[in-house]
Amino acid sequence: MFFDLDDTLYPSTTGIWQAIGDRMDTYITHQLDIAPEKVKSLRESLFHEYGTTLRGLSSLYGINEEYFLDYVHDVPLDRYLQRDDALIETMAMYKERKLIFTNASQRHAERVLSILGLEGVFDGIIDILQITPYCKPLPEAYQKALKLSCIENPGNCVVIDDSERNLKTASEMGFFTIQVGTQIRSPFADAAILTIADLPDVIPANGWHVESNV
Ligand SMILES: [Mg+2]
Repeated sequence: MFFDLDDTLYPSTTGIWQAIGDRMDTYITHQLDIAPEKVKSLRESLFHEYGTTLRGLSSLYGINEEYFLDYVHDVPLDRYLQRDDALIETMAMYKERKLIFTNASQRHAERVLSILGLEGVFDGIIDILQITPYCKPLPEAYQKALKLSCIENPGNCVVIDDSERNLKTASEMGFFTIQVGTQIRSPFADAAILTIADLPDVIPANGWHVESNV
């Protein structure tokens, strides 16, 4: 089971993404000396063309990726997140291998998991530095994630993500896809849930099997 991290394990309404986005703006303005009024459109075009701001800045400006990730993720997460007992219970129901697959950094993922109370729950974290030079939603990112996890057949795996474009690639590659954060399923998702705690509604608690009629 591949779980996205941000806006998937916690709701998109927390304000974390906005805070991280603000840090990206500050980085671009101060470190790359780009006029503040040009930052928003630059970030949007990088996100669409390269998949993430990081990959775009890396390609165009040769930035230090680790420094960028530490800089933008330096937000007071404990102001936005708290321990989530319902989620802890939900995750405990699944005995399958559970992996975080994120376009963020490992350090950020560890901090988020720690605050949510999910330390030690996941069998591994695949972060953006491990899938260099790719990122979701590129198919190569998923191929790398499968390879790193020693999984050959995506058809045996589920991808749980809030991002429609990430789910589109996953679906085209044969993963079973679950969209989080909506009850209106996109054409690229096999199932949709409003929050991650609703996962048992679409995957039986006794386990993920591709044969099951979910
Ligand atoms: Mg996400």
